[in-house]
Amino acid sequence: MAASRHNLLGLSLHQLSEFAERLGEKRYRGKQLFEWLYAKGAESFADMTTLSKATRERLEESACIEHVAIASQHQSHDDATTKFLVTLHDGLNVESVLIPPRIAFRSGDAENDDEQRRLTLCISSQAGCPLDCKFCATATMGFLRNLTAGEIISQVLQIRKAAHRPITNIVFMGMGEPMMNYENVMTAVEILISGLNIAARRITISTAGWADHIRRMADDGCKAKLAVSLHSAVDETRAMLMPINKKYNLDQLAASIEYYHATTKKRVTYEYIFFDGINDTEHEVARLIKFARRVPCKVNIIPFHSIAFTGVQGIGSQLRPSPKMNAIADRLREANLSVFVRSNAGEDIAAACGQLVVKTERQRARQTRIFDRTAVGQ
Ligand code: SF4
Repeated sequence: MAASRHNLLGLSLHQLSEFAERLGEKRYRGKQLFEWLYAKGAESFADMTTLSKATRERLEESACIEHVAIASQHQSHDDATTKFLVTLHDGLNVESVLIPPRIAFRSGDAENDDEQRRLTLCISSQAGCPLDCKFCATATMGFLRNLTAGEIISQVLQIRKAAHRPITNIVFMGMGEPMMNYENVMTAVEILISGLNIAARRITISTAGWADHIRRMADDGCKAKLAVSLHSAVDETRAMLMPINKKYNLDQLAASIEYYHATTKKRVTYEYIFFDGINDTEHEVARLIKFARRVPCKVNIIPFHSIAFTGVQGIGSQLRPSPKMNAIADRLREANLSVFVRSNAGEDIAAACGQLVVKTERQRARQTRIFDRTAVGQ
């Protein structure tokens, strides 16, 4: 592939229309390219049979369609969750997780609608992550780089092809903090909605609490849903579990969420893991209830999945699942909060929430170079 050729994957409809014009084509060619790339998943210009031969030749000379590659996939023995190792164009790897219907939530907790046909893909927005949440395997990788919009979309297209089924739901809950790769994530969301025809209400962006971009998401009219990894409504506890709380404390986070709700009228999801003796005390639960009442919300309780396999040190190595998790869920319901308890889907293949990590030799070497150059993180 010639380096000078323009990768079209990840371009929005507007960008593809501009590209078509620069190529000397009519602007509507951009719409045709958009449909071929995303709705039909064409992987070569030769596949684009509604374009003239001359147009396809011009495209071959000046453009390319650069996909990520699925390096391997592992299916859970306990459920049908599949974890994909995805290789980016520069050889870095990220993980994506395909979660089949009826296992996202524990029995009786499934959200009503058309659960039978739900196929959820959890995608990555960064290689590694700089935010250093203490319960997360990805944090042990450090930050490598942001994914391009094309790499984000290509995860979906390649895994859709491998799954032989339409993907109905997308969650930005894989590796990385999506709000730190805001522009590329928003372009990808636009393409998911209008190119891959995934309903906006089936796309969730999950943030560790990057308050400025929660406001920006509201101002930009982003139609995707917002989830916030909360894990404690007490500043000292949250700062210990999630260093981002030192940049955006709970007051700042709450103000951004209130702004988001006032602007969009949308309900917010809080993701919550209960850790034994840390955030499962009476005081912590009372503060959570108070925090959660600020705007309409639901609370997704996620069982803690061990990240001991990463060799994590410090507080991360001391975290244990709370034995009170189900009792707290009942307590929150009694407080009239909407509560769901997520399943352990994919735990046996380290594909459950918080367990994604890639440490190939190449990635280790790259990570070392980055850490030598600059102190990454908060
Ligand atoms: S939980 Fe999310 S934001 Fe926190 S370190 Fe892991 S990937 Fe990054």
